[in-house]
Amino acid sequence: MPRNAESTAFRSALEVIRGVEPRVADAIGAELADQRESLKLIASENYASPATLLAMGNWLSDKYAEGTVGRRFYAGCQNVDTVEALAAEHARELFGAAHAYVQPHSGIDANLVAFWAILADRVESPALKKAQARHVNDLTEADWFALRRELGDQRMLGMSLDAGGHLTHGFRPNISGKMFDQRSYGTDPDTGLVDYDRVAEAAREFRPLVLVAGYSAYPRKINFRIMREIADSVGATFMVDMAHFAGLVAGKVFTGDFDPVPHAHIVTSTTHKSLRGPRGGLVLCGPELADQVDRGCPMVLGGPLPHVMAAKAVALAEARRPDFADYARQIVDNAQALAEGLLRCGAKLVTGGTDNHLVLIDVTGYGLTGRQAEQALLDSGIVTNRNAVPQDPNGAWYTSGIRIGTPALTTRGLGTAEMDTTAELIHAVLSQTSAGVGPDGTASKAKYVLDPALADKISRQASELLTGFPLYPAVELG
Ligand code: PLP
Repeated sequence: MPRNAESTAFRSALEVIRGVEPRVADAIGAELADQRESLKLIASENYASPATLLAMGNWLSDKYAEGTVGRRFYAGCQNVDTVEALAAEHARELFGAAHAYVQPHSGIDANLVAFWAILADRVESPALKKAQARHVNDLTEADWFALRRELGDQRMLGMSLDAGGHLTHGFRPNISGKMFDQRSYGTDPDTGLVDYDRVAEAAREFRPLVLVAGYSAYPRKINFRIMREIADSVGATFMVDMAHFAGLVAGKVFTGDFDPVPHAHIVTSTTHKSLRGPRGGLVLCGPELADQVDRGCPMVLGGPLPHVMAAKAVALAEARRPDFADYARQIVDNAQALAEGLLRCGAKLVTGGTDNHLVLIDVTGYGLTGRQAEQALLDSGIVTNRNAVPQDPNGAWYTSGIRIGTPALTTRGLGTAEMDTTAELIHAVLSQTSAGVGPDGTASKAKYVLDPALADKISRQASELLTGFPLYPAVELG
């Protein structure tokens, strides 16, 4: 492919868009410029390949395709069948799964598909059978009441939010918290690690229908073999949400006991985080749950997004290449270098380090809340996000932590030497930021004091760090 093919493709696309709504073309161009300039350490973000991005911008988007490959509720879906079958095949091969469902529009949707599949598999409910047999729009209010009554309060045991679990694992702001009676397992207060004996004890007491493992902000590996044994000991279905670390599973960094696929009954994921695909989700399972999972649309999903499934096929094909394994290894090497650099500077890290793609800094060591630290870093050109730490004294809004992750910078080509510098920049900002005071003179959890000259200096150093690692080097928008 000529090197300028990518430039031509994106330039032409923007020219066409500019002809209709120039402000959208400008925003797209500005987004590329912003991404090129920022030191992106958001653990859940990445940079999809040009091929993945381009696979989404086309007429596959125009097709309705409710149903599954070869069994659609719409005519003329042969090309959608091709891309969906390819995406599913790549997902099965990449992860060694018997069945892959690639329609979920996001990670939350993938989890909803999994929850309904598990309920349908495990709970005897005529109302659920009826709901599945009809289109959602055809259900009456009485049908929904019956569904609620028959499904009752099924139980889910998942990781607590402050230990790094996700909202969709049975917490109130998400529908999963209304579908399930939820209880959480936390981490050991001294080590910050999952204590499998405590999980087993909680499972024995609570007897959940579903045991969920997976996280958004836990910086360590989870032993899925042990978790499966715990699930089996109480007759629970074992579900793993690998949204964050799917790239590490795909790249064979997490193998054996740490690879969820051979151990879980059902695995869900996003495709856009460490896996580096388009925004979306997927579900993997064995033959026992496959039929229920395939009912995701229209049970809980709208019509599939064929253009995104095409992009999933492209990204999953990329992840099957040998260089993706090098990428995945480098993500972890970089996260460990970042953690070591921060520890050398005296930062306090949850669990004292990392063995995946993310590091969680406890910024109370700097006398800050997560909110203050996040903003001070942003002023200094370093993009992170605040996150709760275990037993967080500042709650889920202000928090006491900063979550940083390496998938995006690793895609840009930064290595362990640049992570040392990144750690020093982060420490320089946090150690020279202090908590501000509110209008009534009391300590504020949001206001902070940072010398703008220092913020400018660090911003310049952050952009210098990126100069040797251009983002989308073959794309020149002119
Ligand atoms: N599951 C986990 C563990 C996540 O971290 C996230 C996103 O942050 C999700 C699910 C939801 O993904 P999405 O934003 O694609 O719905």
